[in-house]
Amino acid sequence: MNDKLAGLSQTQLDAHWMPYTGNRQFKRDPRMITAADGCYFTSADGRQIFDGLSGLWTCGAGHNRKEIAKAINQQLETLDFAPSFQFGHPGSFKLAERITRLMPEGLNRVFFTNSGSEAVETSLKIARAYWRKRGLASKTKLIGRSKGYHGVNFGGVSVGGIGANRAIYGPALSTAHLPHTLLPENRFSRGQPEYGAHLAESLLEIIELHDASNIAAVIVEPMAGSAGILPPPEGYLQRLRDICEQHQILLIFDEVITAFGRLGTATGAELFGVVPDIINIAKQLTNGVIPMGATVVQQTIYETFMQQGGADYQLELPHGYTYSAHPVACAAALATLELLERDNLFKHSAELAYLLEEYIHQLSNLPLVYDIRNCGLAAALTIERAPGEPLLHPFRIALKMWEKGFYVRYSGDTIQLGMPFITRREEIDGLVNALAESVLEVA
Ligand code: PLP
Repeated sequence: MNDKLAGLSQTQLDAHWMPYTGNRQFKRDPRMITAADGCYFTSADGRQIFDGLSGLWTCGAGHNRKEIAKAINQQLETLDFAPSFQFGHPGSFKLAERITRLMPEGLNRVFFTNSGSEAVETSLKIARAYWRKRGLASKTKLIGRSKGYHGVNFGGVSVGGIGANRAIYGPALSTAHLPHTLLPENRFSRGQPEYGAHLAESLLEIIELHDASNIAAVIVEPMAGSAGILPPPEGYLQRLRDICEQHQILLIFDEVITAFGRLGTATGAELFGVVPDIINIAKQLTNGVIPMGATVVQQTIYETFMQQGGADYQLELPHGYTYSAHPVACAAALATLELLERDNLFKHSAELAYLLEEYIHQLSNLPLVYDIRNCGLAAALTIERAPGEPLLHPFRIALKMWEKGFYVRYSGDTIQLGMPFITRREEIDGLVNALAESVLEVA
């Protein structure tokens, strides 16, 4: 028996259509994970694999945290489910208030979802409905950004800017896109590039073309993650904020990756000093243990819906999910936020970020490495394309890493890193050394 299969039959392997995965390759050569603890996964063939991406940017506090497991178990034994529509349970209100303490001032109303994608859809729907409630129903167009990632549902794909995620799905919502901020002049810059704030001016061109009276919102990741760690140029986000303000356009920050410590702060808004109207969160909110996301809005937005809501038993927003604010997810999130605070993990993350920056830029002279970027405890390498097979090199590098005992993400032409906030210095060193070897082996 091939122990890489964890005892699964071929029929079982075939039955699962895996997300964002080359299914045929995976099923030929599975990378099966059977356990996790701290910063390590256990693979089906019994190896310890360092988790170089905190799961999927989810598990910053490390795996198998007893505090979270205990809270989940207690919740399960007390209240396993409560209807999310028209009835409530205390956990969601406690959690909502706890979240608002970590958000920029004014963002203090929380709508719960089950994923980042759902948080994105929620924010886009709220933005459109908000203007309608304000008597400005023509403000419907949504502005995204090239290389942006906002999940997989139709709204998110429409504002998203990664071509491969859009190409095969046919017409999307009415959108326009800002240019991305990945400038060749900024190759190998550390943290936020100094140059590039002028790219925000493109929003003025979009406004000129479509007119602000037709535009509901601009959505950007303060630091674009999925396209390969694109920190915002200095001054860029503030300029977007100012233009949105001047033209009555809502600014949405998609902080599904950046919220709760990845940048060493509670949010990207905090780190970059720019306050949007809406923030989307997910992933680190429950340390990845239970699916959960949320859309956090400025109180003024919430108040508009309340004031325009009709009789008080009527729905102000006909929107929500069966599992919105699931009691078990709320328990997991409350325990996670408690743990992040108790163990000072935002600070740990910020301290490790300096080390990651120092180590990762040592790879700049390697063959195949076209660019290196970092921001907070996140970094990415852009890898030169193999002739005719643009995505092959990153895939091969990531497989080499897996063989060497490291999990990193390969996506498009990038390799992405985002280790847990509890990583030790030697582990970052080890990962970066293994990455250097892997790149050299593939080159
Ligand atoms: N938005 C951003 C910025 C993300 O990075 C992601 C996922 O990586 C999403 C939305 C989608 O989240 P989910 O996969 O939980 O639906």
